[in-house]
Amino acid sequence: ELIPTGTVWMDGEFVAWDQAQVHVLTPSLHYGWGVYEGIRAYATDRGPAVFRLRDHLRRLHDSARVYLMDPGWSVDELTEISLELLRRTGLDSGYLRPIVYLGYGSMGVAPALDTARVAIAAWPWGSYLGATADQEGCRLVVSSWQRNGVHSVPPLAKATGAYVNSALAKVGALRAGYDDALMLTSTGHVAEASAANIFAVRDGELITPPVGDNILPGLTRDTVITLARDLGITVREQSLTRSELYVADEAFLTGTAAEVVPVASVDDRPVAAGGCGPITKQLRDVFHDVVRGREPTYRHWLEFA
Ligand code: PMP
Repeated sequence: ELIPTGTVWMDGEFVAWDQAQVHVLTPSLHYGWGVYEGIRAYATDRGPAVFRLRDHLRRLHDSARVYLMDPGWSVDELTEISLELLRRTGLDSGYLRPIVYLGYGSMGVAPALDTARVAIAAWPWGSYLGATADQEGCRLVVSSWQRNGVHSVPPLAKATGAYVNSALAKVGALRAGYDDALMLTSTGHVAEASAANIFAVRDGELITPPVGDNILPGLTRDTVITLARDLGITVREQSLTRSELYVADEAFLTGTAAEVVPVASVDDRPVAAGGCGPITKQLRDVFHDVVRGREPTYRHWLEFA
């Protein structure tokens, strides 16, 4: 659940949590025209630090470009604001949610794009899929909802409206008794889970779907690819079918909220290693240390508050 942290930054000022409101006639609510980010801060030996903050804010700017909005605040400015927000909330770890949306003032389906507004909130957020999934692996089911495609809603931009697609799949998976949905492209390739990228491990190598398979190019995905290659593990960005996942030695999800989570089964077929396989464990352990600033080589990914 959402735990209030006292203040939210909105368009240049810090406002009280309960005052962080928008008008019910914002077109972003009606048509889903908005873009956002999900970012994690971790406790380190030098206080709270935000993981890959600038990369996330750059992706926010990229998403805004796709949706023809000018956030009006640079990546540098939003970096400083995010760190100040973290200091004001007193969080030592947690989740940051910047959003660019449209203000009040027009109501057609082609909204007035010069009314872009920006807000950033932060709150504590523990494990996304739960402790059992973290330890024993999550149970995935292929959704009958196709992942947004390049001909409908651009998969590369993290847009608010795009998430009805993820939410339909996620809600369906939960109601069917699974932890998360796996979404396919129109050609039957695996794209990703509802809010996380997927990796398969086979014969000691990693395979993850390429950008062309309608994924959101995750920063955790990019982090894990970098860490794996630095460890000498081969990584292929290559299309995957669901049956290749059925016969994988290991599989795992990556995402800011999800972090690195082993996959226990796909469509009730247990992944071979069962629980958390050795390569998944190795990568999860380095990731855990890297985000907490315990690996000097990757300290440049941290922005200290
Ligand atoms: N895919 C989708 C649809 C997501 O919402 C997310 C979470 N942002 C991801 C993948 C993972 O991306 P990241 O590692 O940048 O959080």
